[in-house]
Amino acid sequence: MEQRQPAPRNEAHKVSFRPARINGRESGELFITLKTRNCSWGKCLFCGLGKTDGDGKPLLYSEAAAQLNGSIRSFTDKGGDLKRVGMVSLITNSDSVFNTETVRRKALLGMLGIIREKLPAVAELVFESRAQFIKTAILAQVKSRIDDLFGTDVVAKTVAVGIESPYDSVRRKIRKGLPDSKLTEAAENAAEAGFGFRGYFIYNLIEPKGESRVNNLMDAVDLMTYLADRKAMDPMRRDGEKVGPKPSLLVVRGYVPERLAATPLLRRFGEVPDAIALAELQRVADYAKLSRVRFEVDSTTEDQQMTASMTVMSPAYRAALVKYNTTMDPLQLRL
Ligand code: SF4
Repeated sequence: MEQRQPAPRNEAHKVSFRPARINGRESGELFITLKTRNCSWGKCLFCGLGKTDGDGKPLLYSEAAAQLNGSIRSFTDKGGDLKRVGMVSLITNSDSVFNTETVRRKALLGMLGIIREKLPAVAELVFESRAQFIKTAILAQVKSRIDDLFGTDVVAKTVAVGIESPYDSVRRKIRKGLPDSKLTEAAENAAEAGFGFRGYFIYNLIEPKGESRVNNLMDAVDLMTYLADRKAMDPMRRDGEKVGPKPSLLVVRGYVPERLAATPLLRRFGEVPDAIALAELQRVADYAKLSRVRFEVDSTTEDQQMTASMTVMSPAYRAALVKYNTTMDPLQLRL
């Protein structure tokens, strides 16, 4: 008899692990990508997944629980150690976990309970969102749920935004729909709610005329510093002292769908030879260290294997990224 396949919404969708140093400990970040509706924006020129990966419906609690449990199972089935998961990133390809049309609120808050129960070593939770959904009310609700589950301020909370390029003009060109003003507002909301602020930036995207790839990423570091310096008023502080969000930056190599591979505006993100890419990342990692911005690199390959028009990382290149992420020593960024 033919076996009935479980519906894709009730099983792990995508899960990947990035070995990293988290909270001073060698552990790693578990990325859990949830299957839900497509991205509500859907206009970014380079988008390889968010426009196509969903199925039009918001994620309900039962589906979210099944996907999260399935993801955790799939991680352990491949030999993953739950005690080594120091950070969990909840991702939706790539709208917002805070948008109730994408993830029902009950589903989001419910998943936190499962993480508490199954992942005992978690020290930081990251929530991916387009900037316009980063509002203080939802952040306060999520923070209060996390503090109830884990203890007050035991676990760091971070919002992550696909910023892609530090330049407003480039973001306009690639139709990101993310002006600097929205970014600033989101960072201030994060600061006010006690969340860190992480930006995803694409290595070897396009630069404005005259800029180099290295300058591009150094400007990304400066942008994160600027956003962290935009002090948000903390209403609980009587002395008027202000706090900004803790800035961090994750660099990805990026991917574009095959049908767009020949678009002159877009590059094959993996076209830079490994040794050059690592030397450039090393310079930026040094600069980020000086700037006190947490600088990380994406060493996962799952998305790359699924999408055309990119170079899957070579083992030596990936090994260098892992060595860096787990030591945070820029000198490890070499072949
Ligand atoms: S916001 Fe993200 S998922 Fe949505 S279209 Fe842009 S790149 Fe794609």
